[in-house]
Amino acid sequence: VIPAFNEAECVGELHAQLTRVAVGMGVSYEILFIDDGSTDETLARLRQLVQQDPHVRVLRLSRNFGHQTAITAGMDHAAGDAVIIIDADLQDPPELIPEMIAAWQAGADVVYGHRVARKGETAVKKLSARLYYRLLRRITDVDIPVDVGDFRLIDARVCRALSALPEHNRYVRGLISWLGFRQAMVDYVR
Ligand code: UDP
Ligand code: MG
Repeated sequence: VIPAFNEAECVGELHAQLTRVAVGMGVSYEILFIDDGSTDETLARLRQLVQQDPHVRVLRLSRNFGHQTAITAGMDHAAGDAVIIIDADLQDPPELIPEMIAAWQAGADVVYGHRVARKGETAVKKLSARLYYRLLRRITDVDIPVDVGDFRLIDARVCRALSALPEHNRYVRGLISWLGFRQAMVDYVR
């Protein structure tokens, strides 16, 4: 599941990388892009990918709703036994996916991508991200792991439980942590 807002320059490369990983693993898969009301060429590029590759599906939202809503729409429409959420802008490495799938096959229902370092981001972004996750832990009773974004794998059961929740303004990471299930972590450099 890939939320995309004005990512015309990235979606082709991401598709190529994801395809390489999926073919390498020999799994059956779909690549579901959610175009979150992009105003650039994103939708046109995605339509080209749909023409070229039957693994690709595209959901087009009626306007820009924001990252969390785009992810939610994607999870509501994803068909797999497991669902992986990954950003469209190539900040999350598809090479981590085999490790996530291995952890899922070993019994985890939620496999978090844990950022051990961030490369190519400004000092301000790094500091604010660091503070954000630590402050978040302090103000909530939900056990939300630090330095974990939306890049993660969830089992279809978790996906269904999430879809059943009535919340509209969602913080997907918080909700997934709150749901419980068996959780595991894999480290990566963002
Ligand atoms: N995104 C989206 N809708 C938005 C903003 C962002 O679907 O309104 C997508 C974006 O294309 C990217 C992901 O959500 O794939 C994360 O967004 P961004 O890179 O801006 O966030 P950051 O890297 O700062 O966490
Ligand atoms: Mg980004």
